[in-house]
Amino acid sequence: MLHVSSQGLAKPLKWLIVALGAGAFLYSAFQVSAAQLDTRFLLLSLVTIYTGTRMLFRVPRTEGHVPLADAFVLLSMLLFGGEAAVLLAVLAALCAALRVSRKASDILFNVALSAISVFVIGQVLRYSFGSIVELPQSRNTFSLLLAVCLMSLVQAFANALRSGAGESEESRVAGGLGAWGGSYVWTLLTCFAVVAAAGFVARLIEATGFYPFLAVATLAAIVHFAYCTYLKDIYASARQAQQIEHHIAALEDSEGLFRSAFDHAAIGMAMVSAQGRWLRVNDYLCETFGYSVEEMRATDFQTLTHADDIGQALANVKRILGGSIQNYKMEKRYIHKQGHEVWVLWSAARVYDVTNGDAPHLIFQIQEITDRKRAEERLLHDAFHDPLTGLPNRALFIDHLKLTIARAKRRKTQIFAVLFLDLDRFKVINDSLGHMFGDQLLVGIARRLEICLRQEDTVARVGGDEFTILLEDIVDETEAISIAERIQKELSTPFNLSGHEVFTTASIGIAPSTTGYEHSEDIMRDADTAMYRAKSLGKARHEVFDKAMHAFAVNLLQLETDLRRALERREFFMQYQPIVALDGFNLRGFEALVRWQHPERGLISPLDFIPIAEDTGQILAIGHWTLKEACKQMRRWQKMFPSDLPLFISVNLSGKQFTQPDLIEQVRQILEETKLPPRSLKLEITESVVMENIDNATEMLRELRALGVQLSIDDFGTGYSSLSYLHRFPIDTLKIDRSFVTRMVDNSENIEIVRTIIMLAQILGMDVVAEGVETKEQLALLRKLGCENGQGYFFSKPASVSGAEQIIAQTCAQLSSNVAQMPHAPTGELGPDDKVKSIRLTSVG
Ligand code: C2E
Ligand code: CA
Ligand code: CA
Repeated sequence: MLHVSSQGLAKPLKWLIVALGAGAFLYSAFQVSAAQLDTRFLLLSLVTIYTGTRMLFRVPRTEGHVPLADAFVLLSMLLFGGEAAVLLAVLAALCAALRVSRKASDILFNVALSAISVFVIGQVLRYSFGSIVELPQSRNTFSLLLAVCLMSLVQAFANALRSGAGESEESRVAGGLGAWGGSYVWTLLTCFAVVAAAGFVARLIEATGFYPFLAVATLAAIVHFAYCTYLKDIYASARQAQQIEHHIAALEDSEGLFRSAFDHAAIGMAMVSAQGRWLRVNDYLCETFGYSVEEMRATDFQTLTHADDIGQALANVKRILGGSIQNYKMEKRYIHKQGHEVWVLWSAARVYDVTNGDAPHLIFQIQEITDRKRAEERLLHDAFHDPLTGLPNRALFIDHLKLTIARAKRRKTQIFAVLFLDLDRFKVINDSLGHMFGDQLLVGIARRLEICLRQEDTVARVGGDEFTILLEDIVDETEAISIAERIQKELSTPFNLSGHEVFTTASIGIAPSTTGYEHSEDIMRDADTAMYRAKSLGKARHEVFDKAMHAFAVNLLQLETDLRRALERREFFMQYQPIVALDGFNLRGFEALVRWQHPERGLISPLDFIPIAEDTGQILAIGHWTLKEACKQMRRWQKMFPSDLPLFISVNLSGKQFTQPDLIEQVRQILEETKLPPRSLKLEITESVVMENIDNATEMLRELRALGVQLSIDDFGTGYSSLSYLHRFPIDTLKIDRSFVTRMVDNSENIEIVRTIIMLAQILGMDVVAEGVETKEQLALLRKLGCENGQGYFFSKPASVSGAEQIIAQTCAQLSSNVAQMPHAPTGELGPDDKVKSIRLTSVG
């Protein structure tokens, strides 16, 4: 059946055909008699409608077909006449057209074309042979053959016309009807075969009768359909077989693909049996583990897995094989053939081996991640370790400490301790020898600390020269003490730093867990407090933290707060202690000593508050105030008691004050404001402050000297006397520390020290002041050793402004009487017969 496109035949032509077809149909309908349409015609009509377009004869070398129905229509023409055949053709064409198209114009066109062609054949045969129905009966085969030829011609033309109507625009334009060309010849031949078959059947029916023919035809049709069905089945199974073949080929392809993907994957792959045997391994995996394929297959997964990872890996393999999980991934270690660890990202899944009765196997994907793992480990290590010494840092230490605290909470009997260790003179070493030596020393100390500890203890570097030690599981606090002693002993051996022999000591604070700790910060704080106590008690020692120490620390905090307001509340005042020339007991000057009158606590010693002021930085303000106050006072006295050789005032400078960048400017300004002659001011700096700042000290001392002020080294002999440096400093006076003077009488060694200091001062052109002179024995000895000046309770305790004024006044009064009592000497110390009875103003001397 054909679709008649609007571009196909011209519309008027199409409708002309429709009109002609309708005419042919109507004419035939009127001409046909009812008798003609008997049962045979009805049966033939049914067969025609049924076969319709279902059975087609293909036109060779073209896309066209000639329907079998056409043969039946022509057969009906030979049996029932041209008009009956037109009716049947219309009926058959209508049924066929309805089956393939719903478009009315298409249906009408095709039906009309069939009607016209059959009508034309009928008329041609009628005019050629008279009665059509007699044609099959006549013995004249030639006329039948001729009729068949005629019928074929018309039928072929009609068929060609139908095809032409459906052809494309281009081919139609190219040649109209003539464009059908060669295909028409083939259509004609096909039509001839069809028409000939119809003629032959008509002849057969004439010879055998319609019904016997029908019976045979029905039988033949049944056989034909059975055969067709059989063929269909065969085709179907053949197609199925072909599909299976394709499928297998595809499977083989994918198996091949899989195999090559497996073998050449850029990741380790393995097929492993449920028992862990390596069934199949790829090159990458062999390379990763250092084994050959054969060697791999001779071993199993368990043997190559790192002992620490085997438990977790096997547990999950079991879950995979049991079906509770589909697959599993973890980072694990294998052991390389060479014995080292290989880190991998291992993923396992279950597969079934079809070749082996569907046995469950494992497929592994193994990606080496050793480099990544190493980098991670390094990062982690760096985050928790001190880069210089390699020791754990504060973060890791606190981590360990927290774990220990948690453990101790569960096991009440467990005792542990934290040791806080601070080097006593690290800054001096670092500043004098340089940072490279400082670093070497820290590394050396780290190694020695490790030697002193047990495996389970942790030593960490938590600051520049601060180390903390966690002692786990100790019997009692004495064990911690003995470890601290061992550390101090170990550190007492000198370090050899690139040829330099360096001595160092450490102060250690011990906080035992027996005090009861919930938080790591608390025990760290207490160990730190104990360490500070050890430092304040003279360094190079250890102290165990106790509750009193905590109270002390709290007290300290309170003092700090109070100290902040002391200056503005005018709670400080000065006392003055005379310094006397020992040969004639002439008064040379005073040392200014600051006092703090606390509103609640009463008088607080500078020994207690100066270190706090140093720590908090308040010493700068306090120091400035004392310096100014002392200078002001001395200027006033100089005016009150004029003399040729004026008195001097000694003022103490602490470490922080000494390193102030604007110290020179401050001193200069104060001298200017107070109008005190610079020569009358003597600044006292302790030996250790100078030695700890050797580089800056020389310059600072030089600049101070340039201002005209005098300089004095305080507490001489207690520090780390670098005699080699001493001569470089522009120093006027050495003050022999009180401790030597006090112990001089009962210890000949101390006498020698004092003698050496006096000699040294003489050699270097400095004068000497002996501190803490309390007794006449001390005085006598010092005089014998040639000590020029003295200071101490023997002469006078530190006195108030008025007390000091009295001393000056009385020594002045002596001037006239030449006999005076020592105003402040401790009673009973000096008898009336003693030579030393008074202090005299030097100028009188
Ligand atoms: P220092 O400079 O060695 O001062 C001498 C200390 O020895 C004073 O203690 C003084 O009272 C005490 N002393 C004097 N003679 C004797 C004696 O015969 N026997 C005994 N047992 N002690 C004697 P003070 O006044 O308590 O001062 C202690 C320290 O405080 C001073 O030691 C000094 O380092 C510091 N200091 C005092 N005043 C100031 C100040 O104004 N500024 C700074 N920066 N430090 C100061
Ligand atoms: Ca002093
Ligand atoms: Ca002193």
